[in-house]
Amino acid sequence: MKNLFKQIPQVAKILDDKDVLLRTSFYLSEVKEEVETELNIIRKEIKNELITDLEYQTVIDRILNRLDNKHQFSLRRVINATGTMLHTNLGRAVYSNKVAENVQTVLTGYSNLEFDLSSGDRGSRYAHINESFSKLIGAEDVLIVNNNAAAVMLTMQAFAFGKEVVVSRGELVEIGGSFRIPDIIEASGAVMREVGTTNRTHLKDYKKAINDNTGLLLKVHPSNYHIEGFTKEVSVEELSTLGKLVVEDLGSGVIESLQSYGLRERTVQEALKSVDVVTFSGDKLLGGPQVGVIAGKKEFIEILRNHQMTRALRVGKMTIAALEALIREYKGGMKTPLKTMLDLDLVELSKRAEFLKEHVHNYVVEVVDCDSTVGGGSLPTSKIKSIGVSISHTELNAIKIEKKLRSNKIPVIARIQKDRLILDMRTLLNDDLEVIKDCLND
Ligand SMILES: *Cc1c(COP(=O)(O)O)cnc(C)c1O
Repeated sequence: MKNLFKQIPQVAKILDDKDVLLRTSFYLSEVKEEVETELNIIRKEIKNELITDLEYQTVIDRILNRLDNKHQFSLRRVINATGTMLHTNLGRAVYSNKVAENVQTVLTGYSNLEFDLSSGDRGSRYAHINESFSKLIGAEDVLIVNNNAAAVMLTMQAFAFGKEVVVSRGELVEIGGSFRIPDIIEASGAVMREVGTTNRTHLKDYKKAINDNTGLLLKVHPSNYHIEGFTKEVSVEELSTLGKLVVEDLGSGVIESLQSYGLRERTVQEALKSVDVVTFSGDKLLGGPQVGVIAGKKEFIEILRNHQMTRALRVGKMTIAALEALIREYKGGMKTPLKTMLDLDLVELSKRAEFLKEHVHNYVVEVVDCDSTVGGGSLPTSKIKSIGVSISHTELNAIKIEKKLRSNKIPVIARIQKDRLILDMRTLLNDDLEVIKDCLND
């Protein structure tokens, strides 16, 4: 034991080691602290007879490993092998390279965020996107705020503060735990006026509820649940005949029909034909940055734009740069990464699965059928046929394998289904397959 203690290198020597010196992104004081911590751990391990020999290189490797782990950002890239394309916990929509490049360009220099280049006067941050975005989604006007929750809240506050918001009992939904329709109406200073029942609401229910103190009629996309059986809901077309402002929270904004994927969802353009104001998220089916889009008739959007709350909900230059590039991609007929994912056919997906089956040696890899979902509170009941691999091992159960994948330097997020670990091939991007292969072979 005594000998082992003697073999612990001097801190100064370690700090002079060329491999340690290469970690130039750290302050020396930080490196020293980490070296001392690791040496203390080694001392304890020697004392407890957990190690029986100690090589210089082992010590260096342990320190380098420690520094690398410490160097990881908290928010970082992970691999989504869950098959849920818009996974709220994994950051929802993925940006295309073009969109990301534009964000980088705008961020690493000054920009004309609120500067009118033609007049030299102060400009509006919204001016960069208002016209092109309105045109793209077929709206008279549009306003962008921080997210759809903010969009709904602002709309309620501006048009129904101290007044009643009429909403069907079948649409009082909770989305992702913290967005709940009754709570957001209350928080905005409006009073919720529930009509109908959970499964059936009629036009006459709305008619009966309308009075002088009605601020607006709210229609909400149920997003993450679906009721079947003896049901009835009132369309916005019918609601728009009642002479009150009609607002629809679309949840996920689809601007191109997804019928060809078997996904039936009303588009923003269709909704705008009969609704005064719609709201939706930017990072769900639209495939863009986290924003809330409020679109509709000019007279209403104008009121929202001038509302005091709007200043508190405004978006930053990062978001506007991303959104403007996304709009251009749509106009150019480019596919968003989400659409590319949806377009992957079973042949393509099988190739990915076969690659892992062929190249992973430490585990049993089987190619299996599975279902991907769109996610993000969109299209709750639609499943899309996909191909995955199941990963198993004679000595490790699915929980252990899941943990190993999740602990990888680039974490791989998988799902466990009936005690089996499944990696869905559809949500993989770029070099994800290589990373998964290396992780499992390690
Ligand atoms: C997702 C969703 C929201 C919340 O949108 P965020 O952009 O996450 O704030 C609100 N309403 C509906 C119907 C939704 O589906």
